[in-house]
Amino acid sequence: MSSPFTRPPRTLLGPGPSAMSPAVLGSLARPPIGYLDPELWPLLERMRTRLRACFGTSAEFTIPLTGTGMIGMESAVGNLAGPSTHVLVGVNGFFGDRIAGMFARYGATVVRFEAEWGMPLDVADAKRAAADMPRVDVLAIVHAETSTGVRNDLAPFGAFAREHDAIFLADAVTSLGGMPVAMDTVAVDVCYSATQKCLGGPSGLAPIAVSDRARNRVCSSASPSWYSDWNLLAQYFDAPHTYHHTVPISLYYALDAALGEIEAETLEARFARHENAANLLLSLLSPLDIAPFAHESARLPMLTTVRVPGWASDEAAVRGTLLNEFGIEIGGGLGHLKGRIWRIGTMGASAQPQLIEMLAAALYQCMRRSSARPSSSRPDMANL
Ligand SMILES: *Cc1c(COP(=O)(O)O)cnc(C)c1O
Repeated sequence: MSSPFTRPPRTLLGPGPSAMSPAVLGSLARPPIGYLDPELWPLLERMRTRLRACFGTSAEFTIPLTGTGMIGMESAVGNLAGPSTHVLVGVNGFFGDRIAGMFARYGATVVRFEAEWGMPLDVADAKRAAADMPRVDVLAIVHAETSTGVRNDLAPFGAFAREHDAIFLADAVTSLGGMPVAMDTVAVDVCYSATQKCLGGPSGLAPIAVSDRARNRVCSSASPSWYSDWNLLAQYFDAPHTYHHTVPISLYYALDAALGEIEAETLEARFARHENAANLLLSLLSPLDIAPFAHESARLPMLTTVRVPGWASDEAAVRGTLLNEFGIEIGGGLGHLKGRIWRIGTMGASAQPQLIEMLAAALYQCMRRSSARPSSSRPDMANL
């Protein structure tokens, strides 16, 4: 028999997955129960109640979808899009672009309004774009753009969506559990997330919350996706609890443990912990000539983007050294930011001062080694 996978030592400071606490890890080792076991219903109810608290919503249809964050996106898009649906999508990064592409794939008519990567979306641009549309059925934006480290404030877009009687869809994959989402306050109708970022669980579940307003508009099961159809899913998660799919009970144990930890810590304290982590990170990186990338007015607390410093002539090699020698994972840039920025996640259990200090110490070592090399092999700052 071949031996099982040996996990190398890793400190996860990338764009996800984040670290899991010992209690969350331990919960994964419990034996399963069946998907129609009556003992499951109180567990489900508790998870749904706690998820509503994280989303800041009273939406009845709040459930963990089976799958990663992308099934949250696909479920939202699949249930909201049709051939005559007009969708306005804010794009200021990789994930906004994905939402726009997915709506088009599901046959909707898509109009984009954009902001430069690194800058937040501006509701004035949404207004200009909407002026040329026959109507706006859905407005979609990403709350925390993980590709750029930018926060898009939800409130102005919620108000704008209500003015147009549009359904407001927000991607909260990276923000949920790390900063306020306050879905009901800012008039978000559909919001999805994932468990492996600020919620502190394993990947494999995508919590989603759908307002009654949005549910009532998609009452006919028109979605071509059977697996993520909200009406079918509701029949399992609510009475009569009819079989839909074999829900991943081990992941439920872990999500329940993670949500219990969030409740014990309190959301306010958790948000402050993420803020402090990002502040500490930037203050420790500044002496290493590592400067923030995202615009000052819109930086995320759980995902910090920084410009690759001049001393890192081969940025992929620096990330390789961090991983192989120091056991630390950080992320590289996506799209046209590849090679130009690093993405450092301080999410959930990874938002700890000790881990951030470890990363800064490791980067200091990388910098010292690079300056030991002849200066001819170092890049010109202007080329970066
Ligand atoms: C990570 C992420 C996703 C995708 O989630 P997966 O769990 O990788 O499927 C979607 N949107 C945003 C903003 C993300 O950060």
